Amino acid sequence: MKAIQVHRAGGPEVLELTDLPKPSPGPGQVLIKVEAVGLNFADILYVAGEYLVRTRYPMIPGMEFAGVVEAVGEGVEHYRPGEVVAALGGSGAFAEYAVVSSRAVVPVPPGMSAAEAAAFPVSYFTAYFALQTQAQARPCEWVLIQAAAGALGTASIQIAKAMGLRVVALASSEEKLALCRSLGADVTLLNTQDNLVDAVKNATEGKGVDILMEVVGGAGFAHSLKMLAYRGRLLVIGSASREMAQMYPVGLMKGNQSVTGVWLTPFLSDPTEMQAATAFLIPLVASGKIKPVVGERFKLEEAAKAFAFVQSRKNTGKVILEP
Ligand code: NDP
Repeated sequence: MKAIQVHRAGGPEVLELTDLPKPSPGPGQVLIKVEAVGLNFADILYVAGEYLVRTRYPMIPGMEFAGVVEAVGEGVEHYRPGEVVAALGGSGAFAEYAVVSSRAVVPVPPGMSAAEAAAFPVSYFTAYFALQTQAQARPCEWVLIQAAAGALGTASIQIAKAMGLRVVALASSEEKLALCRSLGADVTLLNTQDNLVDAVKNATEGKGVDILMEVVGGAGFAHSLKMLAYRGRLLVIGSASREMAQMYPVGLMKGNQSVTGVWLTPFLSDPTEMQAATAFLIPLVASGKIKPVVGERFKLEEAAKAFAFVQSRKNTGKVILEP
């Protein structure tokens, strides 16, 4: 089978198209013929050896995908060959076939395309856990979403609006901001504009935002802290700038503010949290109130091009790879 393999840390240049034996499912595993893979910023960090967990090479990137069940291993009862499913594994999806634990597999709802299904798990579950579980968002609160036209950003706008929040969306071009407005963002601002802190304060009756989804980090982190309202919660979700941020924790005291980390991975093995998230998300998907924004599509062999595309901040929604 065709697969993209990585032998050392690096950027798009280390993604090699190779031919590998088709894997077979072990006990409790499902073999899936991959139809669409969601490309996450985390894949870029993982390949570069800069992710939250250590990368062991050689490896095949790709953590979320959709496809058709080809075969199941011993003890798997819930899935049959031919069924259309989505999966969220640690890696291995940049290939024609992938093997995952049956616990990482979910059926794809009728009417959802493979590309939409592959664009769903990481972004929507993260947006939910960030806003509901970690920030405990309340209706009418203001949330600021950075990189709002990207994969997590577009999902976050939809989830925030479904929760009754008011959204300030930040992105780097007018085209991206137009997409954010089409998804329901109440205020859209270019992240390149001068006096961004003042602009955010002006848009929120001078108070600042109650919740801020911080995904860029670096030097801008200090500005994010200044955008917070009294009792505001800053969620550290990513660091797309790949630069260190600095903060003065005592500065949080005056406004009774907090800074909270958000990482999807530990939530995935918490059945109570996953049940709550699924109970919230599935009716919204079924009713069409939330719908993944599928961005540009690339062939699997163009994985390096797709990486470079996301790194150069050109994408809107989730970039998809198709074997
Ligand atoms: P996106 O589709 O949002 O693409 C990344 C976006 O980040 C770019 O389009 C760009 O938007 C913005 N950006 C700002 N600075 C940079 C930079 N220096 N280089 C590249 N991009 C930059 O990606 P994802 O939705 O996959 O991820 C968004 C962020 O959320 C990442 O930091 C990711 O690691 C994090 N994340 C965290 C999760 C968790 O569990 N904690 C789960 C999912 C994502 P613009 O041009 O508009 O500024």
